[in-house]
Amino acid sequence: MQQIIVQKYGGSSIKDTTRIKNTANRIKSYQNQGYQVVVVVSAMGKTTDTLLSLAKEISTTPSKRELDVLLSTGEQISIALLSMALNEIEIDTISLTGSQCGIKTNSVHSNARIENIDSERILTELNKNVVIVAGFQGINEKGDITTLGRGGSDTSAVALAAALKAEKCEIYTDVDGIYSADPRIIPNAKKLDTISYDEMLEMAKLGAQVLHPRSVELAKNYQVKLEVKSSLNNNPGTKIIGEIDMEKIQIRGITSENSIARISITRVPDKPGIAYKLFKTLSDNSVSIDMILQNLTHENVNDISFTTPVEELNKVSPIVKDFAKNIGAEDVIIKDNVSKISLIGTGILGHGEIASMFFETLSDLKINIEMISTSETKISCIIDKSHSLIATKKLHEIFFES
Ligand code: ADP
Ligand code: ASP
Ligand code: MG
Repeated sequence: MQQIIVQKYGGSSIKDTTRIKNTANRIKSYQNQGYQVVVVVSAMGKTTDTLLSLAKEISTTPSKRELDVLLSTGEQISIALLSMALNEIEIDTISLTGSQCGIKTNSVHSNARIENIDSERILTELNKNVVIVAGFQGINEKGDITTLGRGGSDTSAVALAAALKAEKCEIYTDVDGIYSADPRIIPNAKKLDTISYDEMLEMAKLGAQVLHPRSVELAKNYQVKLEVKSSLNNNPGTKIIGEIDMEKIQIRGITSENSIARISITRVPDKPGIAYKLFKTLSDNSVSIDMILQNLTHENVNDISFTTPVEELNKVSPIVKDFAKNIGAEDVIIKDNVSKISLIGTGILGHGEIASMFFETLSDLKINIEMISTSETKISCIIDKSHSLIATKKLHEIFFES
């Protein structure tokens, strides 16, 4: 039986017709090696951003269902063009939208989760065709189009690889693999030959946009062999693997996230149930919350701070102000210009010298730390956004270049 390979090509790999033709040639070479090939594609170049700005010209609060109908068209353009490019070089193909290839999701428009994949159609088509699937999209139980969240084509690819029990899943992008920091920001960033699922998941969640976090989660859960490579050359990429040596310190990477807001409610009455009420109200309104900090109690009051993506502020700020007024807190302070800088690796918490070097670096730069959070695989600090670049550069220098 022929082995199945799933390859995902991101927007930059198919940003124009020349790149689409190059991608077709690469796919052909894999078919020549004897694989049955499933290709997942994103929208061309910045198409998704362009579609989003069109929607914003019409409405500041477009319906999420309609946004999904709109954004999913980007991937539909790609599958048709790539299919034609392969036909031109004598490869038989079939292009399929998310719904045509049985990707069933829940109904959370713009951030849907894949619930199952009915792989029958793909498996039948694979006997005679290269199957080209529109990434980032699925269908809910009503038959409506859903999308998986920005960057979600990676997740489509890994989910398909798991469902089809593929030999491997290759993610083609515009850099050679996973680096110790975003190579566009840190030119000295080092390429990693391998990284564990857990470390990669942490990097993806903390802002390394190269892989959609849920794709790494799925790859780990279904033990999908995952590799990130460049579609612009034939260099070896980075393999995401299972083994991890918890006893060893392995510092893997630095990430920075710059679209974060910090909200602090000051002088909150120190009574049981207050935090519950606040975060229940926020969760009832589907607000995403990241770090949470509560200060020590003084005079029966304390301060509660949390972070949220900047784009949630319009929604969050009236809810929190209302809440603060109702419970008799003093004030709500909103800072929409903070960054989260993180160091990712293994064994971080068990080796205090790493945290101390991290804090020392920020201290030498006279950067004030506003919030801290740590786990076995990361240290994250909230700092003022104006210091984000210098902090990332210096931390990279200390941990990876010396
Ligand atoms: P695609 O369109 O192929 O999905 P993305 O733009 O989503 O590509 O992801 C690739 C980009 O991720 C790279 O161009 C790079 O700037 C960025 N990136 C951020 N952090 C890292 C990292 N640690 N390693 C590699 N790339 C990273
Ligand atoms: N086209 C979608 C986006 O730009 C999905 C993806 O690229 O993975 O977010
Ligand atoms: Mg991407």
